[in-house]
Amino acid sequence: MRQGYRIFDTHTHIGTARHSGRVQTAEDLLRSMDAWGVDRSVAIPFPVVEDFRAQHDEIGRAVRSHPDRLTGSCCIPPFIPGTEFRDEVRRCVEQWGFRAVKLQPQYQALNPVSARSDFLFEAAAEHRLPVIVHTGTGVPFSLPSLYILKARKFPDLPIILGHAGGSVYMHECIVAAAVCSNIYVELSSLMPHHILEITAHVPANRLLAGSDIIESVDAELGKFLAMELPEPVRRAILWDTAEALFLN
Ligand SMILES: [Zn+2]
Repeated sequence: MRQGYRIFDTHTHIGTARHSGRVQTAEDLLRSMDAWGVDRSVAIPFPVVEDFRAQHDEIGRAVRSHPDRLTGSCCIPPFIPGTEFRDEVRRCVEQWGFRAVKLQPQYQALNPVSARSDFLFEAAAEHRLPVIVHTGTGVPFSLPSLYILKARKFPDLPIILGHAGGSVYMHECIVAAAVCSNIYVELSSLMPHHILEITAHVPANRLLAGSDIIESVDAELGKFLAMELPEPVRRAILWDTAEALFLN
């Protein structure tokens, strides 16, 4: 709770990233959440790891120890055999209660337009898990508009466009969300005037807050407290939309 607002950070990471060298423990994340008044976070593995199952177990144990603070997401290399992919999604749900599937196309170059990539969306839909997609860096497969076809093919599956296209492609997020009511936008990396442009087009019950990394928590979440927004919009972005997606 911060300034009277419940805060749900829908984009954080726990684990060891081989591509960046970043190491972030559950304790690091929880300490940061306490410092900045974040009530709950979605904890996601990094996209390039030594052992994705071990990363899921690390997050799963943290979720089990702090069920009131953490929600788990899996992130699975998309080019392993499809049966292994599905088995791991199922294991994450049944063993650890995970509530999302992450795709990071900057490091996991799965073509979202190809029918070859259906399996990932099918696996998420089977367990009623939203798909969180990194968008922005990593073009072309991280372009927000490329997820419109999958959103139409899986109309009951929420697809969250992480980082809102990394600001450069934020207008694609507006278009994608305007034409697909199951597309959500997570607003990290955007400046306040970008956010106002998005709120003019996308209903607040499809907008989410996220920080991505611990150093950005204050800036990424504090911006919603500082900027001028209608109160219901502010509360939707900071908590209500995420609650409806991840806690029901
Ligand atoms: Zn991230």
